[in-house]
Amino acid sequence: MRAGAQDAEEWVDGFLFVANRPILDFLNTRPVLAEGPTELLSDVPALVRWLIASGIVSSAGEKRLVQSWRNAPGAASFLKDLITFRERLREAVLRLEGGSAPSEEFMQEVNRGLLERPPATVLRKHEGRIVRERLFDFERPSDLWTLIFDEAADLLSEPEIDRIRQCEACVVHFFDTSKKGSRRWCSMNLCGNKLKVAAYQRRKREGESER
Ligand SMILES: [Zn+2]
Repeated sequence: MRAGAQDAEEWVDGFLFVANRPILDFLNTRPVLAEGPTELLSDVPALVRWLIASGIVSSAGEKRLVQSWRNAPGAASFLKDLITFRERLREAVLRLEGGSAPSEEFMQEVNRGLLERPPATVLRKHEGRIVRERLFDFERPSDLWTLIFDEAADLLSEPEIDRIRQCEACVVHFFDTSKKGSRRWCSMNLCGNKLKVAAYQRRKREGESER
């Protein structure tokens, strides 16, 4: 859906958004850049910037609230737990992509989270019909767990599971929303061109050796 717009908006405020799913964009906050694996959520202010860049936090009031997290007690330890969870989620996603189920422990962890922190929902009119919308409250850093568990559960139970994929050339994961379902890399700019050049050079080499 965003295929055309993707090029322009791949990087927002130093963060990568190519996954079509916030939870996968969250997973992609530790990409491998030229200088090696890079932690983009390096501190609480970075997490706050990511929340705003991702569009998860969008109203002025919410932005003010999350910006106050910089000095909130427990914010740093929350971030540490969040990053640990992200790595367990990565393991689960890699298993999904490899055709197997996430570990029983991870399923239980997500289930506990869903039970402890279910999102509130409301009805809203949208384009002439009624939609049920989930509400997320961002008063404290730990309120983010509601969103994280909800999105993680949606991802793990995704019906079109083979559209959850890792880039063929790097560690970035994405949800393929292309019509044909044939997306192979995180982005044309980052890996697509690199792969095309490599394939071209390989063909050229092979062509030369046949002669
Ligand atoms: Zn890539």
